[in-house]
Amino acid sequence: MKDGLGSLLTTLGERSAYDAASQCSRCGYCEQSCPTYVATGREAFSPRGRNQLVRLMLEGKLDDPASAEEALSTCLLCGACQTVCPAHVPTPDLVLEGRRALRGKGSALLDAVAKLMRERPAFFRLLLGWAFRFKRWGLAGLAARSGLLRLMRLPVLEEMILTVPDAPARTADEELAGRPELGPASEAAWGYFAPCGPRYLMPRVAVATAKALGALVGKGAVLGNPCCGLLSFNYGDLDEARAAARAVIERFEGSGLPPGVPVAADCSSCAAFLKSYPQLFLADPAWRARAEAFAARVRDAVELLPAEKVPKNEALPLLTVHDACRLRNGEGSTAVPRAALKSLAGGGCAELGRAEHCCGGAGAFAFVHPELSGELLKAKCAAIADTQARVVAASSTSCLIQLERGLSMYYPECKAVHPMELVADALQRRGIPEKNG
Ligand code: SF4
Ligand code: SF4
Repeated sequence: MKDGLGSLLTTLGERSAYDAASQCSRCGYCEQSCPTYVATGREAFSPRGRNQLVRLMLEGKLDDPASAEEALSTCLLCGACQTVCPAHVPTPDLVLEGRRALRGKGSALLDAVAKLMRERPAFFRLLLGWAFRFKRWGLAGLAARSGLLRLMRLPVLEEMILTVPDAPARTADEELAGRPELGPASEAAWGYFAPCGPRYLMPRVAVATAKALGALVGKGAVLGNPCCGLLSFNYGDLDEARAAARAVIERFEGSGLPPGVPVAADCSSCAAFLKSYPQLFLADPAWRARAEAFAARVRDAVELLPAEKVPKNEALPLLTVHDACRLRNGEGSTAVPRAALKSLAGGGCAELGRAEHCCGGAGAFAFVHPELSGELLKAKCAAIADTQARVVAASSTSCLIQLERGLSMYYPECKAVHPMELVADALQRRGIPEKNG
């Protein structure tokens, strides 16, 4: 398949995309776990239908590219189907391969922005800072029309800037500078990988991560990483995604972190992508080995929370937890954060119905397919309201933005926060500023 990975790292080992698609026996076991199938009832919008389309594409038998484009573009890449599939079919990776084949090289403009973020981060921050200033001054329309947003032509970033409730005055890098929980890499118990969401849109999450892990794990060190390349991987050019991955790995290798010390990322979408870096380099043994060494050190920040040390917060009202899709399906790591959150939930922790269903955020999905996304968001907010929780925890920036938007419309009594914010708050109420051993 042109412009694709060609080979995939699956649960069953390395497979060609065709072999992986052929693993689908069309049993239909995954159908009810797929939010887009449940919402539409359309076979083409199911994992089975999408796998069949990719297989036809690989066999050169696709006769309706427009329908295939619609079916593949409406996939949330949530991975719920992969989690329940008895044949371990990697449907999200196959959907991405199909999309790449249909659209060719991807968005050149997006890649230009990704390159700008990687090669000239200070300039990028300056431009973003002005966009946020426009927003804070109430000039949201001007922000949307500013040179930066025009240059980006990224519905997701443009909408995020306009949608994120509080345009932050400072980036996470600025907020974290000089914090007492952080120090030199050579003495660190964990390294901080700053995903773009917490870094540019929600620095409060990065500060909470520093406070929480600083108290429970020990001093950390900021890696000063560039963007992980996920946007290029999903919507742009694989070459740019690989360039981003190489830059991240080089930064990690030169960081001076002691052997075995984990790298924590506090956005589940980025953490899952960092862990999947080896798949980008299957045809390049030297870089594959470096990517594997790096990926083995990556943790979703919530995976580092020692549940037994998280104090109870008696002031916290009833809590529920929305599992970010990349945490649940990409990393398979809901148990550790759930245990930590139950430890602190003074008002109790209610389980969410249909927790495996995506909230409809899914990166650009909310803005590319607003109607379908809106339906999923409404269902998610109804499920949250059914629990009567007043706080919902979610570990991905995209989920937080989507849930904040949905809750303000459908269930304003509840607010969405990152688990690290809850842990930092619980610690602060107990007056625990430092590692409690
Ligand atoms: S993706 Fe898996 S669960 Fe779904 S139809 Fe194919 S084999 Fe069955
Ligand atoms: S990744 Fe999600 S939306 Fe896409 S086919 Fe699988 S379950 Fe459906």
